[in-house]
Amino acid sequence: MQLTFLGTGAADWDINAYVPGQPFRRYSSALVNDDLLIDPGPHIFHFARENERPDMFDRVRNIIVTHTHSDHFCPETVETLCAGRDCTLWGDAACLRQLERALGPVRTGRIRFQETKACPPVPYAIGGYTVWPLRSNHDTGDPEETTRLYLVGDGKRLLYYGCDSAWIPTASWNIIRDQPVNAMVLECTCGELARNDWRIFEHNTLEMLELMLTTFRKYRYFAPDVTFYVSHMARTLHTDHEALQAYLAPLDVTPAFDGMCIEV
Ligand SMILES: [Zn+2]
Ligand SMILES: [Zn+2]
Repeated sequence: MQLTFLGTGAADWDINAYVPGQPFRRYSSALVNDDLLIDPGPHIFHFARENERPDMFDRVRNIIVTHTHSDHFCPETVETLCAGRDCTLWGDAACLRQLERALGPVRTGRIRFQETKACPPVPYAIGGYTVWPLRSNHDTGDPEETTRLYLVGDGKRLLYYGCDSAWIPTASWNIIRDQPVNAMVLECTCGELARNDWRIFEHNTLEMLELMLTTFRKYRYFAPDVTFYVSHMARTLHTDHEALQAYLAPLDVTPAFDGMCIEV
């Protein structure tokens, strides 16, 4: 299973400030192989254009959503990928509410939507994958929305994707800890410039990552070959990619960058 990072930034990156060749992160989104999209954000077509891959999303058949913050969920992106195409959106009912608000009932009606529940988490099969929607520790202000982390398996390999969430909620952890996860993508919104930051209640800091990583290793959770990555870095809370790389190297964690492709 391949994972391509289409965007690795938090919501404070500005696409209008993009300069080709300069360090930049788009809003967080990732593509599993070429057919399962995690988070239909507003910057994914910019990624395809800049990388001269206009057909990049032609084979996307399913989309899953972590939550409906605008850096992760863009109704126009969903419409482009799903309306009149063989592509299904899977997520909380909040996704549908957002679509109806932004696009109106007629345009929303052209989008195939499947509601999924994270409480209790019910795994479902989509395409050749098994997907577990698990609660994240994050909030969109919609009291009915259940924000999510995901486990995605293809029958052989297992991926964890957790952007956005502070820590991992207990009920989700009780499921994740027993799984043979091969690659884990944790969020790292807060970097060197945001130690002891107020965002710890909804995002990870470097200190939190260090604690989690040390604990994962101490108890040998996950598959023996598990590898760790971070994504969702805030522009204003980090210095630069190289500094983050150096900080995380002793923890054996790789910071993702836009366009990075990993073999799970
Ligand atoms: Zn975000
Ligand atoms: Zn968010």
